[in-house]
Amino acid sequence: MTPLLELALGQQYPAAALYVVATPIGNIADITLRALHVLGLVDRIAAEDTRNTGQLLARYGITKPLLALHQHNERVVAARVIEHLQAGERMAYVSDAGTPGISDPGAKLVDAVRAAGLAVIPLPGASALATALSAAGDWVATFSFIGFLPPKAKQRAAALQALATQPSALVFYEAPHRIVETVAALADGLGGTRRLLIARELTKLHEALHVCTLADGPAWLAADANRQRGEFVLVVEGAPAQEVAGESEHDVLLGILLKELSVSAAAKVAAAITGGSRNALYARALALQQD
Ligand code: SAM
Repeated sequence: MTPLLELALGQQYPAAALYVVATPIGNIADITLRALHVLGLVDRIAAEDTRNTGQLLARYGITKPLLALHQHNERVVAARVIEHLQAGERMAYVSDAGTPGISDPGAKLVDAVRAAGLAVIPLPGASALATALSAAGDWVATFSFIGFLPPKAKQRAAALQALATQPSALVFYEAPHRIVETVAALADGLGGTRRLLIARELTKLHEALHVCTLADGPAWLAADANRQRGEFVLVVEGAPAQEVAGESEHDVLLGILLKELSVSAAAKVAAAITGGSRNALYARALALQQD
Protein backbone atom coordinates (compact mmCIF):
# COMPACT_ATOMS: atom_id res chain seq x y z
CA MET A 1 0.00 0.00 0.00
CA THR A 2 1.29 3.46 -0.88
CA PRO A 3 1.97 5.74 2.14
CA LEU A 4 -0.83 8.11 1.07
CA LEU A 5 -3.43 5.34 1.07
CA GLU A 6 -2.49 4.63 4.70
CA LEU A 7 -4.32 7.88 5.53
CA ALA A 8 -7.55 6.05 4.77
CA LEU A 9 -6.55 2.84 6.52
CA GLY A 10 -7.11 3.62 10.19
CA GLN A 11 -10.77 4.54 9.76
CA GLN A 12 -14.08 2.75 10.29
CA TYR A 13 -15.49 0.68 7.42
CA PRO A 14 -18.56 -1.12 8.82
CA ALA A 15 -19.45 -4.52 7.37
CA ALA A 16 -22.95 -5.27 5.99
CA ALA A 17 -22.97 -1.81 4.36
CA LEU A 18 -23.33 -0.41 0.85
CA TYR A 19 -20.64 2.13 -0.07
CA VAL A 20 -21.79 4.55 -2.79
CA VAL A 21 -18.53 5.58 -4.43
CA ALA A 22 -17.92 8.51 -6.82
CA THR A 23 -15.43 7.86 -9.63
CA PRO A 24 -13.68 10.30 -12.02
CA ILE A 25 -15.61 12.22 -14.72
CA GLY A 26 -12.67 12.03 -17.12
CA ASN A 27 -9.40 12.52 -15.31
CA ILE A 28 -8.19 9.19 -13.92
CA ALA A 29 -6.42 10.95 -11.04
CA ASP A 30 -9.66 12.50 -9.69
CA ILE A 31 -10.48 9.80 -7.16
CA THR A 32 -10.17 10.08 -3.38
CA LEU A 33 -7.85 8.08 -1.17
CA ARG A 34 -10.86 6.77 0.75
CA ALA A 35 -12.58 5.67 -2.48
CA LEU A 36 -9.48 3.74 -3.56
CA HIS A 37 -9.20 2.13 -0.14
CA VAL A 38 -12.88 1.13 -0.06
CA LEU A 39 -12.83 -0.24 -3.63
CA GLY A 40 -9.89 -2.41 -2.57
CA LEU A 41 -11.59 -3.46 0.68
CA VAL A 42 -15.15 -4.40 -0.34
CA ASP A 43 -16.14 -8.00 -1.10
CA ARG A 44 -17.73 -7.10 -4.43
CA ILE A 45 -18.68 -4.11 -6.54
CA ALA A 46 -21.99 -3.46 -8.27
CA ALA A 47 -21.42 -1.31 -11.35
CA GLU A 48 -23.53 0.41 -14.03
CA ASP A 49 -21.28 -1.16 -16.69
CA THR A 50 -18.99 -3.94 -15.51
CA ARG A 51 -16.69 -3.62 -18.52
CA ASN A 52 -16.05 0.11 -17.95
CA THR A 53 -15.60 -0.36 -14.23
CA GLY A 54 -13.34 -3.39 -14.74
CA GLN A 55 -11.07 -1.23 -16.91
CA LEU A 56 -11.13 1.64 -14.40
CA LEU A 57 -10.29 -0.68 -11.49
CA ALA A 58 -7.45 -2.22 -13.50
CA ARG A 59 -5.85 1.24 -13.78
CA TYR A 60 -5.80 1.38 -9.97
CA GLY A 61 -4.55 -2.21 -9.67
CA ILE A 62 -7.83 -3.47 -8.14
CA THR A 63 -9.58 -6.74 -9.10
CA LYS A 64 -13.00 -7.57 -7.58
CA PRO A 65 -16.06 -9.65 -8.39
CA LEU A 66 -18.43 -7.34 -10.32
CA LEU A 67 -22.21 -7.28 -10.58
CA ALA A 68 -24.09 -5.33 -13.29
CA LEU A 69 -26.69 -2.93 -11.89
CA HIS A 70 -28.07 -0.41 -14.38
CA GLN A 71 -31.30 1.49 -15.03
CA HIS A 72 -32.99 -1.55 -16.64
CA ASN A 73 -32.37 -4.03 -13.79
CA GLU A 74 -31.84 -1.80 -10.76
CA ARG A 75 -34.75 -3.09 -8.65
CA VAL A 76 -34.13 -6.77 -9.42
CA VAL A 77 -30.37 -6.68 -8.79
CA ALA A 78 -30.89 -4.57 -5.64
CA ALA A 79 -32.44 -7.70 -4.09
CA ARG A 80 -29.21 -9.63 -4.78
CA VAL A 81 -27.10 -6.83 -3.33
CA ILE A 82 -29.23 -6.96 -0.17
CA GLU A 83 -28.64 -10.73 0.13
CA HIS A 84 -24.87 -10.16 -0.01
CA LEU A 85 -25.09 -7.39 2.60
CA GLN A 86 -27.27 -9.53 4.87
CA ALA A 87 -24.54 -12.18 4.69
CA GLY A 88 -22.22 -9.56 6.25
CA GLU A 89 -20.42 -8.41 3.10
CA ARG A 90 -19.28 -4.90 2.28
CA MET A 91 -20.33 -3.82 -1.21
CA ALA A 92 -19.64 -0.74 -3.32
CA TYR A 93 -21.80 0.78 -6.04
CA VAL A 94 -20.19 2.81 -8.84
CA SER A 95 -21.75 4.32 -11.95
CA ASP A 96 -19.89 4.85 -15.22
CA ALA A 97 -18.52 8.23 -14.21
CA GLY A 98 -19.02 10.72 -11.41
CA THR A 99 -21.43 10.39 -8.52
CA PRO A 100 -24.06 7.61 -8.60
CA GLY A 101 -27.66 8.79 -8.36
CA ILE A 102 -26.95 12.11 -10.15
CA SER A 103 -28.46 11.51 -13.62
CA ASP A 104 -27.18 7.97 -13.09
CA PRO A 105 -28.48 4.73 -11.54
CA GLY A 106 -28.06 4.18 -7.81
CA ALA A 107 -31.03 5.92 -6.19
CA LYS A 108 -33.38 2.91 -6.29
CA LEU A 109 -30.61 0.70 -4.91
CA VAL A 110 -30.09 3.16 -2.04
CA ASP A 111 -33.86 3.13 -1.29
CA ALA A 112 -33.97 -0.67 -1.29
CA VAL A 113 -30.87 -1.10 0.91
CA ARG A 114 -32.13 1.42 3.45
CA ALA A 115 -35.61 -0.11 3.44
CA ALA A 116 -33.97 -3.44 4.30
CA GLY A 117 -32.49 -1.79 7.41
CA LEU A 118 -28.91 -1.81 6.11
CA ALA A 119 -26.39 1.03 6.11
CA VAL A 120 -25.68 3.24 3.07
CA ILE A 121 -22.35 5.06 3.25
CA PRO A 122 -21.62 7.77 0.62
CA LEU A 123 -18.04 8.45 -0.48
CA PRO A 124 -17.87 11.92 -2.08
CA GLY A 125 -15.89 12.66 -5.20
CA ALA A 126 -16.18 13.96 -8.73
CA SER A 127 -19.46 15.15 -10.21
CA ALA A 128 -19.85 17.20 -13.39
CA LEU A 129 -22.50 19.26 -11.54
CA ALA A 130 -20.23 20.43 -8.69
CA THR A 131 -17.21 20.76 -10.98
CA ALA A 132 -19.03 23.16 -13.35
CA LEU A 133 -20.57 25.15 -10.48
CA SER A 134 -17.21 25.57 -8.76
CA ALA A 135 -15.98 27.51 -11.79
CA ALA A 136 -19.23 29.31 -12.70
CA GLY A 137 -18.84 32.53 -10.73
CA ASP A 138 -20.72 34.80 -8.36
CA TRP A 139 -23.91 34.88 -10.44
CA VAL A 140 -24.71 31.30 -9.33
CA ALA A 141 -25.47 31.80 -5.64
CA THR A 142 -28.34 29.30 -5.63
CA PHE A 143 -29.15 26.72 -8.28
CA SER A 144 -31.60 24.01 -9.35
CA PHE A 145 -30.21 20.86 -10.91
CA ILE A 146 -32.37 19.87 -13.89
CA GLY A 147 -30.11 17.30 -15.60
CA PHE A 148 -31.12 16.27 -19.12
CA LEU A 149 -34.04 18.12 -20.72
CA PRO A 150 -36.59 16.01 -22.64
CA PRO A 151 -35.27 15.30 -26.17
CA LYS A 152 -38.59 16.10 -27.95
CA ALA A 153 -39.10 19.77 -28.78
CA LYS A 154 -42.63 20.04 -27.39
CA GLN A 155 -41.84 18.45 -24.00
CA ARG A 156 -38.60 20.44 -23.80
CA ALA A 157 -40.44 23.73 -24.40
CA ALA A 158 -43.00 22.81 -21.72
CA ALA A 159 -40.22 21.97 -19.25
CA LEU A 160 -38.55 25.33 -19.94
CA GLN A 161 -41.83 27.18 -19.57
CA ALA A 162 -42.18 25.72 -16.08
CA LEU A 163 -38.64 26.92 -15.24
CA ALA A 164 -38.82 30.39 -16.84
CA THR A 165 -39.53 32.37 -13.66
CA GLN A 166 -37.21 30.48 -11.28
CA PRO A 167 -34.87 32.91 -9.52
CA SER A 168 -32.11 30.33 -8.99
CA ALA A 169 -29.63 29.38 -11.71
CA LEU A 170 -30.48 26.24 -13.71
CA VAL A 171 -27.99 23.44 -14.33
CA PHE A 172 -28.41 21.09 -17.30
CA TYR A 173 -26.50 18.09 -18.61
CA GLU A 174 -26.25 17.57 -22.36
CA ALA A 175 -24.67 15.18 -24.85
CA PRO A 176 -22.81 16.35 -27.99
CA HIS A 177 -25.49 15.29 -30.50
CA ARG A 178 -28.08 17.57 -28.87
CA ILE A 179 -25.97 20.48 -27.61
CA VAL A 180 -26.77 22.82 -30.52
CA GLU A 181 -30.55 22.39 -30.39
CA THR A 182 -30.60 22.51 -26.59
CA VAL A 183 -28.73 25.82 -26.37
CA ALA A 184 -31.06 27.26 -29.05
CA ALA A 185 -34.08 25.99 -27.08
CA LEU A 186 -32.74 27.57 -23.87
CA ALA A 187 -32.37 30.95 -25.61
CA ASP A 188 -35.85 30.60 -27.07
CA GLY A 189 -37.52 29.52 -23.83
CA LEU A 190 -35.67 31.64 -21.28
CA GLY A 191 -34.80 34.75 -23.33
CA GLY A 192 -31.46 35.84 -24.75
CA THR A 193 -30.22 38.17 -22.03
CA ARG A 194 -29.32 35.71 -19.24
CA ARG A 195 -25.76 34.50 -18.66
CA LEU A 196 -24.81 31.02 -19.87
CA LEU A 197 -21.80 28.90 -18.87
CA ILE A 198 -20.90 26.21 -21.37
CA ALA A 199 -18.62 23.76 -19.53
CA ARG A 200 -17.24 21.16 -21.90
CA GLU A 201 -15.04 18.09 -21.31
CA LEU A 202 -14.40 18.99 -17.67
CA THR A 203 -11.15 17.60 -16.22
CA LYS A 204 -10.15 16.24 -19.66
CA LEU A 205 -7.56 17.23 -22.26
CA HIS A 206 -9.95 19.45 -24.23
CA GLU A 207 -11.63 21.09 -21.23
CA ALA A 208 -13.24 24.43 -22.10
CA LEU A 209 -15.37 26.85 -20.09
CA HIS A 210 -17.07 29.71 -21.88
CA VAL A 211 -19.42 32.36 -20.45
CA CYS A 212 -21.69 34.33 -22.79
CA THR A 213 -25.35 35.34 -23.03
CA LEU A 214 -27.98 32.80 -24.06
CA ALA A 215 -28.49 34.80 -27.27
CA ASP A 216 -24.78 34.42 -28.16
CA GLY A 217 -24.60 30.71 -27.25
CA PRO A 218 -25.71 29.23 -30.62
CA ALA A 219 -23.28 31.41 -32.63
CA TRP A 220 -20.38 30.52 -30.30
CA LEU A 221 -21.05 26.80 -30.79
CA ALA A 222 -21.48 27.21 -34.56
CA ALA A 223 -18.17 29.08 -34.95
CA ASP A 224 -16.07 25.91 -34.45
CA ALA A 225 -17.26 22.29 -34.81
CA ASN A 226 -14.86 21.25 -32.03
CA ARG A 227 -16.91 23.32 -29.58
CA GLN A 228 -19.83 20.91 -30.13
CA ARG A 229 -17.84 17.79 -29.22
CA GLY A 230 -17.66 16.00 -25.88
CA GLU A 231 -19.75 16.15 -22.74
CA PHE A 232 -21.44 19.32 -21.50
CA VAL A 233 -22.77 21.02 -18.41
CA LEU A 234 -24.83 24.15 -19.09
CA VAL A 235 -25.46 26.67 -16.32
CA VAL A 236 -28.06 29.38 -16.99
CA GLU A 237 -28.51 32.47 -14.81
CA GLY A 238 -31.77 32.66 -12.83
CA ALA A 239 -34.78 34.76 -13.91
CA PRO A 240 -34.46 38.56 -13.52
CA ALA A 241 -36.17 39.94 -10.39
CA GLN A 242 -39.14 41.51 -12.20
CA GLU A 243 -39.98 38.22 -13.92
CA VAL A 244 -39.95 36.48 -10.55
CA ALA A 245 -42.18 39.18 -9.04
CA GLY A 246 -44.61 38.71 -11.91
CA GLU A 247 -44.05 42.21 -13.24
CA SER A 248 -42.25 43.06 -16.40
CA GLU A 249 -40.32 46.14 -17.46
CA HIS A 250 -42.02 45.42 -20.78
CA ASP A 251 -45.60 45.94 -19.52
CA VAL A 252 -46.05 49.08 -21.67
CA LEU A 253 -44.89 47.27 -24.81
CA LEU A 254 -47.05 44.26 -24.04
CA GLY A 255 -50.05 46.53 -23.42
CA ILE A 256 -49.67 48.11 -26.87
CA LEU A 257 -49.18 44.75 -28.61
CA LEU A 258 -52.16 43.18 -26.86
CA LYS A 259 -54.46 45.78 -28.45
CA GLU A 260 -53.65 44.27 -31.86
CA LEU A 261 -52.42 40.73 -31.24
CA SER A 262 -53.25 37.50 -29.39
CA VAL A 263 -51.43 36.79 -26.11
CA SER A 264 -49.04 34.35 -27.72
CA ALA A 265 -48.31 36.60 -30.72
CA ALA A 266 -47.76 39.58 -28.39
CA ALA A 267 -45.31 37.53 -26.29
CA LYS A 268 -43.48 36.38 -29.42
CA VAL A 269 -43.09 39.92 -30.80
CA ALA A 270 -42.10 41.32 -27.38
CA ALA A 271 -39.47 38.57 -27.00
CA ALA A 272 -38.06 39.37 -30.45
CA ILE A 273 -37.89 43.11 -29.66
CA THR A 274 -36.52 42.88 -26.10
CA GLY A 275 -34.54 39.63 -26.09
CA GLY A 276 -36.56 38.63 -23.00
CA SER A 277 -37.96 35.20 -22.18
CA ARG A 278 -40.92 34.34 -24.40
CA ASN A 279 -42.36 32.15 -21.65
CA ALA A 280 -42.11 34.87 -19.02
CA LEU A 281 -43.55 37.46 -21.43
CA TYR A 282 -46.40 35.08 -22.30
CA ALA A 283 -47.24 34.62 -18.61
CA ARG A 284 -47.13 38.41 -18.08
CA ALA A 285 -49.21 39.14 -21.22
CA LEU A 286 -51.82 36.64 -20.05
CA ALA A 287 -51.98 38.33 -16.64
CA LEU A 288 -52.25 41.79 -18.25
CA GLN A 289 -55.05 40.66 -20.54
CA GLN A 290 -56.96 39.13 -17.63
CA ASP A 291 -56.54 42.39 -15.67
N1 SAM B 1 -23.23 10.93 -12.42
C1 SAM B 1 -22.53 11.87 -13.25
C2 SAM B 1 -22.08 13.06 -12.42
O1 SAM B 1 -21.99 12.94 -11.20
O2 SAM B 1 -21.81 14.12 -12.97
C3 SAM B 1 -23.36 12.27 -14.46
C4 SAM B 1 -23.73 11.13 -15.35
S1 SAM B 1 -24.70 11.59 -16.73
C5 SAM B 1 -25.20 10.04 -17.35
C6 SAM B 1 -23.53 12.06 -17.93
C7 SAM B 1 -23.59 13.55 -18.25
O3 SAM B 1 -22.89 14.28 -17.27
C8 SAM B 1 -22.94 13.91 -19.56
O4 SAM B 1 -23.84 13.75 -20.66
C9 SAM B 1 -22.60 15.37 -19.35
O5 SAM B 1 -23.74 16.18 -19.51
C10 SAM B 1 -22.21 15.36 -17.87
N2 SAM B 1 -20.77 15.12 -17.76
C11 SAM B 1 -20.16 14.00 -17.33
N3 SAM B 1 -18.82 14.14 -17.39
C12 SAM B 1 -18.58 15.37 -17.87
C13 SAM B 1 -17.41 16.11 -18.17
N4 SAM B 1 -16.21 15.58 -17.99
N5 SAM B 1 -17.54 17.37 -18.64
C14 SAM B 1 -18.76 17.91 -18.83
N6 SAM B 1 -19.90 17.26 -18.57
C15 SAM B 1 -19.82 16.01 -18.10
